[in-house]
Amino acid sequence: MKGKPHLQRKALGGGRVHVKILLVEDEAKTVAFLKKGLSENGFVLDVARDGETGLHLATELTYDLVILDVMLPERDGWSVLQALRKRDRTTPVLFLTARDGVPDRVRGLETGADDYLVKPFAFSELLARVRTILRRKGKTISESLRFFGLEMDLLRRTVTRDAKRLDLTAKEFLLLELFLQHPGEVLSRTFIAERVWDMNFDSDTNTVDVAVRRLRKKTDDPFPRKLIHTVRGMGYILEDRT
Ligand code: CA
Repeated sequence: MKGKPHLQRKALGGGRVHVKILLVEDEAKTVAFLKKGLSENGFVLDVARDGETGLHLATELTYDLVILDVMLPERDGWSVLQALRKRDRTTPVLFLTARDGVPDRVRGLETGADDYLVKPFAFSELLARVRTILRRKGKTISESLRFFGLEMDLLRRTVTRDAKRLDLTAKEFLLLELFLQHPGEVLSRTFIAERVWDMNFDSDTNTVDVAVRRLRKKTDDPFPRKLIHTVRGMGYILEDRT
């Protein structure tokens, strides 16, 4: 997508970069409606059905945008947004408020929301707002990638896990960046080789395995919780299995 930092495009070998959106909404009807519309428009969507889960995902994973309903079980939208900003998560937030919630909107913007939309809304309007926010934030989005304590700063080219600095080679950095861009997806050796080494895969099947083993030695071995896993006969996956 346009406006994504150069670093990410380069790491993906010029391929298409997905924009990831987190939708925090408890109403099944709205979820189904947004899920369909956003995926048809090429966005990748995660859904949280309550505020607590929403806050957890928005803190631990990397999103380009959070669409946040105000009335939510467990923890309301305000509280989610406040907690996010307190934790220095600058992910843009689009608030969904009720029709009679005019004071809510003011409060939302004061709390650090980027925009709001009054329910019920037309999908085209939501899409326009989403695109505007992403365009506006285009220069700052995805400066870092994170996954359960693992954090990659794309500008400073540094990696930490649980705030501990990891010393990676350039290839290991690219490899980890690829995993962080595709959390929860099985990455085949061919896919990895093409993107990290820019090579056709008939040459050397062993290269990827060796590199992944070296990477894990740094990212996983010193820590009790393992994040990179082998998927037998298929490849590798970055996944939280606790
Ligand atoms: Ca709701």
